[in-house]
Amino acid sequence: MTTTRIDLVRASLGERELQAVAEVFRSGWPAGQGPQGKALETRLKSLYNVADAVAVSNCGAALDLAMATLGVSPGDEVIVADYTFPAPAQSVLHVGATPVLVDVLADTGTIDPEAVQAAVTTRTVGIIAVDTLGLPADYDELQKIADRHGLFVVEDAACAVGATYHGKPAGSLAEIGCLSFHGRKGLSSGEGGAVLTADPDRGQDVRRRSSFGIGSIFELGQVVGLPIPEFTGPGHNYKLSDIAAAILRVQLDRMDELLARRVAVADRYTEMLDGQDLWTVPRVPADRTHAWQSYMVTLDPRVDRAAVATDLRAQGIGCGHGAWATHTQPAFATDRTCPVSADLFRRNLAIPMHAELSVSDVEKVVQAFVQAVRTNVDDRTQAGRLR
Ligand SMILES: *Cc1c(COP(=O)(O)O)cnc(C)c1O
Repeated sequence: MTTTRIDLVRASLGERELQAVAEVFRSGWPAGQGPQGKALETRLKSLYNVADAVAVSNCGAALDLAMATLGVSPGDEVIVADYTFPAPAQSVLHVGATPVLVDVLADTGTIDPEAVQAAVTTRTVGIIAVDTLGLPADYDELQKIADRHGLFVVEDAACAVGATYHGKPAGSLAEIGCLSFHGRKGLSSGEGGAVLTADPDRGQDVRRRSSFGIGSIFELGQVVGLPIPEFTGPGHNYKLSDIAAAILRVQLDRMDELLARRVAVADRYTEMLDGQDLWTVPRVPADRTHAWQSYMVTLDPRVDRAAVATDLRAQGIGCGHGAWATHTQPAFATDRTCPVSADLFRRNLAIPMHAELSVSDVEKVVQAFVQAVRTNVDDRTQAGRLR
């Protein structure tokens, strides 16, 4: 039997990206906030139609910078979507504040606006919504709640580069948007991220905070004389290298092409897998589009997910559990419960999703998946329930 490996995720990096890296080597400035970083930020600004875009080392850094520039401090509560890679809750802990984990909607996996409203207290300062696995949250409803209570909204669009909500690009749907260009996301420079903001002063503050609290060393080097950079405030080193920025400029050129390929894979999966009783496929509301960082199938409780995963992996087909129910993780121990999120965490299975999948790969995955589920159903549970 031949086993061709079909990866769960795979970055689409090729010759053009290599050429761009070679140019950076020749330029002599591989570090951050140089000409490549500047060009990338200009590009992001116009692509997203935002006041400013700051290139940073990853989305975790982007979220940390968002919390810092918004002045979130100990004693504050920030409402955070529970079902996600738990980076948003981490960023709240990093500034000594309390993440208040809130449940998600069963059909989209995005933060439940009613649960957000119910979680607001006098200590609440803001909301971090997550575009779950590439699908934007309900920003109109969230913004209304935020306006009513004087809260900020931060959009964690780590998985959603290329998605839209009411025709606007994910990442520009709140006062601060955070992007990821990690190797497992739709566009990638290995590691990378960005902070997008509607407020130019906020952008400048974030840029300084991403660079030890001083301005761009590259820019200072272009000035006549001996300018000594001034440390004007607190800051980390969260800069994106110009090597990564150069790769990302190529990836942004390829955004439509790479997204179209993911959408084609998702459409084919949905076509082939929809309408079954042992699993459900993702639902995309009509007012938004999905960037398909992951394609998640929700298995019926009768299906043994770990056994399905074992069967798929034995055939060289990648799969994963997807996101986490943050409140179940020891780092975020809380009395709050988020039953929908916990349920998705138990039942969701991510099947291969990336731009390099062929038509026959997709068919192989579907065939293997259907087979694996059918052989790993606990019929006694069903029988027990029917009796
Ligand atoms: C991947 C991911 C992050 C972290 O992104 P990095 O660029 O790896 O730091 C943050 N939030 C969400 C929702 C993610 O999926």
